[in-house]
Amino acid sequence: MSIERVAIIGAGMAGLTAALAFARHGTACDIFEEVAALIEVGAGLQVSPNASHVLSELGVLPALEAVWTEPDRIALVSGTSLRPLAHVPAGRFARERWGSPYGVLHRATLQQALLAAVERNPLCSIHLDTPIRNDPHVTLAGITGRTYPLIVGADGVWSNLRAGIPDSPEPDFSRNVAWRFTIPGSARPDWLDAGQVTAFLGPSTHVVAYPLREIDGFNIVAIASGISPGKTWDAQAGDAQRRMLLGQFHRWDRRIVQLIERAERPTFWPLYHVAAGRWHNGRDMVLIGDAAHAMMPFAAQGASMAIEDAFVLANRVAGPLPLAQALTEFESERTQRIAKVRARGLFNRFAYHARGPIRLGRDIVLSLRPPQSLAADFDWLYGFKAK
Ligand SMILES: Cc1cc2nc3c(=O)[nH]c(=O)nc-3n(C[C@H](O)[C@H](O)[C@H](O)COP(=O)(O)OP(=O)(O)OC[C@H]3O[C@@H](n4cnc5c(N)ncnc54)[C@H](O)[C@@H]3O)c2cc1C
Repeated sequence: MSIERVAIIGAGMAGLTAALAFARHGTACDIFEEVAALIEVGAGLQVSPNASHVLSELGVLPALEAVWTEPDRIALVSGTSLRPLAHVPAGRFARERWGSPYGVLHRATLQQALLAAVERNPLCSIHLDTPIRNDPHVTLAGITGRTYPLIVGADGVWSNLRAGIPDSPEPDFSRNVAWRFTIPGSARPDWLDAGQVTAFLGPSTHVVAYPLREIDGFNIVAIASGISPGKTWDAQAGDAQRRMLLGQFHRWDRRIVQLIERAERPTFWPLYHVAAGRWHNGRDMVLIGDAAHAMMPFAAQGASMAIEDAFVLANRVAGPLPLAQALTEFESERTQRIAKVRARGLFNRFAYHARGPIRLGRDIVLSLRPPQSLAADFDWLYGFKAK
């Protein structure tokens, strides 16, 4: 059933992609975003082939390819010895095997590319500085004078729209925080390979590093235990938090510890996940992206899943089923995919943060796996073509 117009709450990856995906079917979109300007928030993002495929369908990929980096490989390296353990080839290999590129870039770059495409599209209009809380139907009617047959909640992990959906999922603190800082390219230590995404694995923590062309430097993220500073993406780290972080690296290679010690203006954000629950109200409201299923970044798939959701939702709503059934179909398809990705993330968490004998076993198993065989493990994830 095709609908004439939708309201989308939130202009993150999910909301902006949804606007482009709906517009492709001739549906007009009003997007409502609470911040007054979409400025740089967050850190680097890995965009895997399953997401770049969608971005290509929506015409956004060329703008990204002009500025991002396609890493040669995703490498797993011991955080205690800096010994390479295994790698999954990316670069040209990713394009050939999974039919679409694997790129790394700043979150703001992706958001600006999506925003530019939305602003160019005559069917889309964006309302910044317009938070939607309380009863969304009443609030939206007050702003635009319209009644919307469908409201899409793309308002992130702290979604307000969830309150209108019975049995919707609740965010839960994972007891892990993500630390983020950047270093300029000129400060790159010789053990940090500029051509790859590197995951350094250590007991109970891991560090991911990759180049960001936009800043001529590197994005570095450490995932460790921590306490939540509340609803934020960008808390400034004080001395107490720094000590807590560094305490978790005492068995790590000294060179990585020094890199973290010298980090300038590190920020951290608490990792909340949003697990099982309903994503729609059976009528006129549906959640996508982090609002529906925020996940830990162990598979680096949060934004990619938000992008897939947006595309699939627009396709189901434009399909032959009545709206309520299209929403049910969407939820059922997407919960299965999300469950698989979440399970992969949990497995990575177990493997990445392994200690003692499990860590030794992991290292042996990984070093015996040829890159092509590791790549085959990702076919279901990276080779997926959202429809
Ligand atoms: C450390 C870390 C590393 C990550 N790395 C990766 C990675 O490599 N690859 C990957 O795919 N994902 C990654 N992710 C996950 C990814 O960043 C998120 O999953 C993704 O940004 C979610 O997009 P979203 O649009 O659903 O939500 P958001 O990006 O949170 O956007 C929500 C938008 O809604 C707006 N909003 C909120 N409330 C309201 C309201 N009441 N009214 C109006 N607007 C509102 C917000 O201002 C915001 O603009 C990572 C996450 C972390 C924490």
